[in-house]
Amino acid sequence: MILTGQEYLESIRDGRTIYVGKERIADATRHPALAGGARTYAALYDLKAANRDIATFEENGERYSMYFLQPRSQEDLRRRNRVHRLIADFSFGLLGRSPDAVAGNLTGLAMNSAYFDSEPGGNRTNVRSIYEYVRKNDIFATYAIVPPPAARNKDYYQSGGIQSPSLRVTAETDDGVLLNGMKMLATGAAYAHEVLIGNVMPLAPDQKKEAITALVPLNLPGLSLWARRPFNTEATRIFDSPLTSRFDESDCMLVFRDVKVPWERVIVHDNPALSRNIYINTPAHVLANHQCMVRFSSKMRFMLAMASKLTQMTGARDIPAVRELLARLAAYEAGLSAMVDGQIERCQPANDGFTIFNRRYLYATLNWAMENHSMLIDTLRELMGGGHFQFPASIDVLEDPELRPVFETLWNAGTHGAVERMKLFKLAWDLVGSDHASRATSYEKFFVGPAFAVRNYNFIYAPWDELHALVDDLMAQYDALES
Ligand SMILES: Cc1cc2nc3c(=O)[nH]c(=O)nc-3n(C[C@H](O)[C@H](O)[C@H](O)COP(=O)(O)OP(=O)(O)OC[C@H]3O[C@@H](n4cnc5c(N)ncnc54)[C@H](O)[C@@H]3O)c2cc1C
Repeated sequence: MILTGQEYLESIRDGRTIYVGKERIADATRHPALAGGARTYAALYDLKAANRDIATFEENGERYSMYFLQPRSQEDLRRRNRVHRLIADFSFGLLGRSPDAVAGNLTGLAMNSAYFDSEPGGNRTNVRSIYEYVRKNDIFATYAIVPPPAARNKDYYQSGGIQSPSLRVTAETDDGVLLNGMKMLATGAAYAHEVLIGNVMPLAPDQKKEAITALVPLNLPGLSLWARRPFNTEATRIFDSPLTSRFDESDCMLVFRDVKVPWERVIVHDNPALSRNIYINTPAHVLANHQCMVRFSSKMRFMLAMASKLTQMTGARDIPAVRELLARLAAYEAGLSAMVDGQIERCQPANDGFTIFNRRYLYATLNWAMENHSMLIDTLRELMGGGHFQFPASIDVLEDPELRPVFETLWNAGTHGAVERMKLFKLAWDLVGSDHASRATSYEKFFVGPAFAVRNYNFIYAPWDELHALVDDLMAQYDALES
């Protein structure tokens, strides 16, 4: 099934509990703080439906979204890459949790469902049926696979007999598990249908009950979504906040209070090691994070375009030092694109005849993006000068017959009119300095997990033996070379 935007909107009016502060929001699609995001996701579903060739595929007479394709060849990887690009370009790379993101995880888990049978507590059948369910119903899933920070204070919780706030199984019945506690940080949860809960960071062997990994509908009784402050209000205008108004995707802490999850939704139970290893020992992490880097490369193209447009507007573009800076940004952008394409060009075989993106190139790209996003944003900020602060608070000045002519005259800069200038600077600020932009800067640092985890992936997949042999072979040649 391929959902239309309207069908998608109706499907998320499902009675879920979203708190914004103490306010309970009954319908995210109609509330001023959240409706802009809902419209954007609906537009994405329409975009997909309108681009069947790129965005969908057929299997056994059924049509599915392309991001559920299980790749068996380099061409299949290209097909996945093309749908990610279509979606990422639509949001200028600013939506982290588009529906194609966690779809990569769920598809990758199903590609090596046998791994779930390799240890106790895994459930291969459920992995496969969940994959069939999400692709058949065109489900938008997000994930929350990190415990809350307070859970790390083990001494406090163990010695005081106090229950850790981390999500855990508190009871088991014939038909399912009862979950209590908290999980973070589900980006897009206000808009997704379902959430994958689990553990991407290692658990201690005694944390069996926290190993629970399951796909959970976001409207289950007892589950509440505690949103951070949304950046939109009734007063938000597209002109003043062109990116915030469309791409504020929400981030929610998930609070479970006696939430009953049926067994058929559970894929790992009571096995801490397995709950983490499923991402790495299946293609899940690789498929999902390739999408993240396609998205990041779309964002870099947008940032480069903005840098050039801003310097055109300020008149600085032809100054040699500024030109050199633009050249450097262009080189970064092209380099990042090449790193993304390289993941396909140097693709790797996986289990059971599947093909995956090159792992090392993928983790190198993630590391580059995580380390350099702030630098790119800061460069844009510098190129903007103080431009943003020189404009009125809102374009509503045009609605005032006295203010309008003053604004149009005094803010005019010759070749660029007042409104034209304000439009670009407002857009740039929404990319660089607004609340939405600032949140994105944290997102780019942490969406894969903390920096040391990203670097660890680069460490564990480096071919150290091969590299050591390079040095050892060279040193072994000394005697032969001297004789
Ligand atoms: C906007 C946003 C959206 C997110 N969306 C999602 C999502 O949808 N799903 C999801 O599961 N997760 C998501 N995350 C990631 C996640 O929930 C955490 O924010 C992330 O794993 C980092 O954990 P933390 O925030 O508790 O930081 P901490 O772990 O407290 O880290 C704080 C700092 O301390 C450093 N640090 C901590 N421990 C060590 C150590 N042992 N060695 C070296 N340095 C260390 C970290 O590198 C970091 O710089 C999101 C994060 C953000 C910011």
